[in-house]
Amino acid sequence: MRRGVPGDDVARICEHSAMTPDRLAVPPAHARFRSTVMPRFAPLPTSPNVIVVGAGAAGIGAARRLIEAGLSVAVLEARDRVGGRAVTTSLRGHPIDLGAHWLHAGPVNPLVALGRARGEPLRKAPQNGHLVIGRRRARPAERRAFSSAFDLADRAMTLGASKTSEDCAVGSLVPVGLGPWRDRIELVHALVSGRPLDEVSLHDWPSLEYGENFFVDGGYGAYLARLSQDLPIVLRMPVTRIDRSADGVKVGTADGASLSAKAVIVTVPIMVLQSSIRFTPALPPAIRSAIDGFISGTYEHAVLHWPSAPFQGRDRLASVIGGRHRPPGMLTRIGGSPFHFFEMDAAMAEGLDAKLAPANAARHLVRAVLAEHFGYRAIDDLAIPAVTEWRRDARSLGSWAVVPPGHAPARVALKAPVDERLWFAGEALSREQWGTAGGAYAEGARAADEVIERFG
Ligand SMILES: Cc1cc2nc3c(=O)[nH]c(=O)nc-3n(C[C@H](O)[C@H](O)[C@H](O)COP(=O)(O)OP(=O)(O)OC[C@H]3O[C@@H](n4cnc5c(N)ncnc54)[C@H](O)[C@@H]3O)c2cc1C
Repeated sequence: MRRGVPGDDVARICEHSAMTPDRLAVPPAHARFRSTVMPRFAPLPTSPNVIVVGAGAAGIGAARRLIEAGLSVAVLEARDRVGGRAVTTSLRGHPIDLGAHWLHAGPVNPLVALGRARGEPLRKAPQNGHLVIGRRRARPAERRAFSSAFDLADRAMTLGASKTSEDCAVGSLVPVGLGPWRDRIELVHALVSGRPLDEVSLHDWPSLEYGENFFVDGGYGAYLARLSQDLPIVLRMPVTRIDRSADGVKVGTADGASLSAKAVIVTVPIMVLQSSIRFTPALPPAIRSAIDGFISGTYEHAVLHWPSAPFQGRDRLASVIGGRHRPPGMLTRIGGSPFHFFEMDAAMAEGLDAKLAPANAARHLVRAVLAEHFGYRAIDDLAIPAVTEWRRDARSLGSWAVVPPGHAPARVALKAPVDERLWFAGEALSREQWGTAGGAYAEGARAADEVIERFG
C-alpha cells in the first residue's frame, strides 16, 4: 500500500519542488522499462470538440466518457506510452507495476466497478500483514498493541482535524501515549501522505478514503493501458501552450503544431503544471495559486526479486520496526511471486538524491536495511532489478500532489472551469481519493461530464 529517515536529511519544500534542470536531463531509472501492453489507437479527428492533455488515468477517464457521449476527442500525450504514473512492465516474466499497484477504496473507486463490469481479474487485498521487530517476528500481544496504537492515532488526528479551525500540520496532532509505536505510526502516515507529517495539511488529511483494496492480475498499468485501446490518442506530443484568447481553445505542442477545439481538459500532474505549459491569457489568480501551492509527494518502489524472503502468504504488507534505517514499508510476495516492493518515503528517497547515482545508492541502502533485520545470508539470492524515480521524472515531478498546511481548499478550487473552456482534472483534484489512479479516473470523468453538459 501506499502507506524515514528524519531530521537533517529531510529536504525542504522549496528545494524539492525545484528539481534542477541537470537532474531532469538524465532519464529517471524507471524510464527504460517497457510497458507490457501497447494498445492500438484511433486516428485523431482533424477538428475535435475537445482536447484532452495527458493520457494517464484522468485523461483516459475523460476521453472514454466524452466519446461515450458522442463528442469527438483528441488526446495529446507527451510520453511514448499511456498510463502516466501507472505502468506495468515485465521482469523475469512477471508483470510488475512501477507506479500505482493497489486499487484503493473499492466501494468508491470507479476502476473497481468498471473492472468488475469488464471481467477484469481483480483480487481482494488481504487485511493482515507481517510485523517484524528488530530481527524477530512480533508476538501476538505486540501485534494487538501496534494495531490499537494505530487506531488511537487515527481517531485523534481525524477528530482533531474536525475540531481545529486553523489548518496546521497534521504532525502536530499525533497523540502522546503511542508508546514505542509512535515512530512507526508517523513513518507509515508519512509514506502514505507522500511527505513528512509536518508538511501535510491537517484539514486535508482526513479526506482520503481507503476502504477495501484490490489488485488486478497482470498489473494496474496494464489494466489502464487496456482501457485506452482504440481511443484517439497521439503519443510523444508534449503540450507547451494553451491559448483561449479567441473563441474556443488553441493547444500548441513542442514541435510547433497546434490544434483547436471548443474545450480542453488538462490532466498533466500538478507539479508539471507549476513549471511548464504557458496559458494565454494567464490563469485566474485563484486557479494559479491553487496550482502553485501544492507540494510534490514522494513514494518510490525498489522492486526486489527475493525468492527466499522470510514472508509467507501473498500480497501482504510488512512493517519492519527498529534498526538504524527505519524502513518505511514493504509489500511482500506480489501476486504470490518472488517479487516484493520495498517502499521509499520522501525522506529516504530524497536523502539519496545527493548521491551521484541515486538508483544504485537506493540498492545499497535496501540491502543494508534487509541485512540488518534478516542477516546477510538471508539476502544471498536478493536482486533489485528496478528502482523508481518518479520525483525526477520530468513528466510527473513526484508521485502525487500534497496539500501543505494552509492550502486545504486547493483541490476544490481547481475544479472550477476557466472561461467555460478549460477544465483541470487528475489525482490532485480528488478529495476522497487523492493520490490514486481511481481518484484521477473519477476526476477525468467529472470534468468530461461538465464539458458534455456545456457542449454535448
Ligand atoms: C511509485 C508509486 C506508487 C503508487 N501507488 C499507487 C497505488 O498503489 N494505488 C493508486 O491508486 N495510486 C498509486 N499511485 C498514484 C497514482 O499513480 C497516481 O495518482 C495516478 O496514476 C495519477 O493519474 P493522473 O492521470 O492524475 O496523472 P498521470 O498518471 O501522471 O497522467 C498524466 C499524464 O500527462 C502526461 N503529460 C505530462 N506533461 C505533459 C505535457 N506537457 N503534454 C502532454 N502530456 C503530458 C504524462 O506523461 C502522463 O501520462 C502511485 C504512484 C507512484 C509514483
